[in-house]
Amino acid sequence: MTQYDYDLFVIGGGSGGVRAANTAAGLGKRVALAEERKIGGTCVNVGCVPKKLLVYASQFNDQFDAASGFGWTVGTSTFNWSSLIANKNQEITRLQGVYNKRLQKSGVNVVTGSAKLLDAHTVEVEGSTFRAERIVIATGGRPFVPDIAGREHIVTSNDMFFLEQLPKRIIIVGGGYIAVEFAGIMHGLGVDTTVCHRGDKLLQGFDEDIRDFLAEALTKKGISLLFNADIEAIEKTGDAFTVQLIGGNKMTTDLVLYATGRTPNSTGFGLEALGVEMDDEGAIKVYDDYRTNVSSIYAIGDVTNRVNLTPVAIAEGMALIDQLYAKQARAVDYDNVPTAVFCQPAIGTVGLTEAEAREKYPDIDIYKTRFTPMKNALSGLDDKTLMKMIVERSTDRVVGLHMVGTDAPEIIQGMAVAMRAGATKAIFDSTIGIHPTAAEEFVTLHQAMI
Ligand code: NDP
Repeated sequence: MTQYDYDLFVIGGGSGGVRAANTAAGLGKRVALAEERKIGGTCVNVGCVPKKLLVYASQFNDQFDAASGFGWTVGTSTFNWSSLIANKNQEITRLQGVYNKRLQKSGVNVVTGSAKLLDAHTVEVEGSTFRAERIVIATGGRPFVPDIAGREHIVTSNDMFFLEQLPKRIIIVGGGYIAVEFAGIMHGLGVDTTVCHRGDKLLQGFDEDIRDFLAEALTKKGISLLFNADIEAIEKTGDAFTVQLIGGNKMTTDLVLYATGRTPNSTGFGLEALGVEMDDEGAIKVYDDYRTNVSSIYAIGDVTNRVNLTPVAIAEGMALIDQLYAKQARAVDYDNVPTAVFCQPAIGTVGLTEAEAREKYPDIDIYKTRFTPMKNALSGLDDKTLMKMIVERSTDRVVGLHMVGTDAPEIIQGMAVAMRAGATKAIFDSTIGIHPTAAEEFVTLHQAMI
């Protein structure tokens, strides 16, 4: 009889925690996982998955408009938000079922309830205690809302998936991933949409050309972008809200969404008392092997606030378990992590921005193309596509790829494989294009910008 009930106790049933638990159980370890809400975490319940379903829903209006150019006559269309949300909920419930079944099949003991660490090897969940040799914290993050007057009137991305009705007007605060994704969803569903951002450009950290191109595209679609705009207070006025900007301007709206970043879920369950080190933003500090300063406690995913993306949390979960139990020292490579923003038009990107590449390499070449996608020859839609490639001149290696346009996330996923394999511009040039596609432009970029 060992002194522990479990080899591994995972706190948090999101993407990273579930993968760590399943992988460890698959290697014959005794594993328990505690989740206080629904299995699947942010991604499945209030993030990537429902967001993408809402993005699909929001694209039909444009498609109906485009159809006539291709000979179709489309009848009067109407949209029912409640039916979309009900169908989305059904799909999310199905996915939760898949996750639960998988955990069950792997032999993971799923404990429902809020977990608290009593010591470096003991977890309490709703009055029951569990002793484990190792504990993994995979508690993710939650929306961060700054302290403004009238904070109680706002909603966050968590609420957007369960709104009882679609507003007529929305103000979205923030200029990051979530702000621009919901701007596209709301606008596509016919909501009068304003993005209110404290900075002078959307999507900090992205390539400047991508940022400029997206702002232009969103404005052309009819989304109002307010830059250098900070909110001072929000007041409820009847059924609507009055938003007071610093500087005096006022706006009236039906809903205010704050998409101003996320905070790690790291407090209130015993980490502080155990002395687990965190940074100023509450992110758990980990060494390269995901171990915290308390040797039996590990942390993966958004609670470490590094690269806050589902596939990264999953990769971290697998790397941790392989290294603990399969004796494979395998670190996650955080270079060239591709990412997408499901705004409309969508963004896909991998590698360095032009600014980062200029800083890192003495000589780079920039290739850019901006064109009207073939579908728009007949659709009457005005969307354009932008593609950009950054090449380190001395080695000919492609060090950055960026795209805004239809299917950008799908296209960049494939390109990311080539980049990780160290593809040179010559390799791209010698690759035969698939015609007619947008993606073929990446293998026919002949003229560097001067
Ligand atoms: P982001 O960090 O992407 O953006 C936050 C935005 O809010 C920034 O524009 C920021 O401005 C602004 N902001 C921050 N604090 C304040 C404040 N006090 N007042 C006003 N504005 C403020 O966060 P999101 O919430 O959009 O998303 C969180 C994370 O979730 C993302 O970074 C990403 O890692 C992940 N995610 C990934 C998705 C995907 O893969 N498609 C989709 C959605 C989320 P500034 O730029 O000036 O700092």
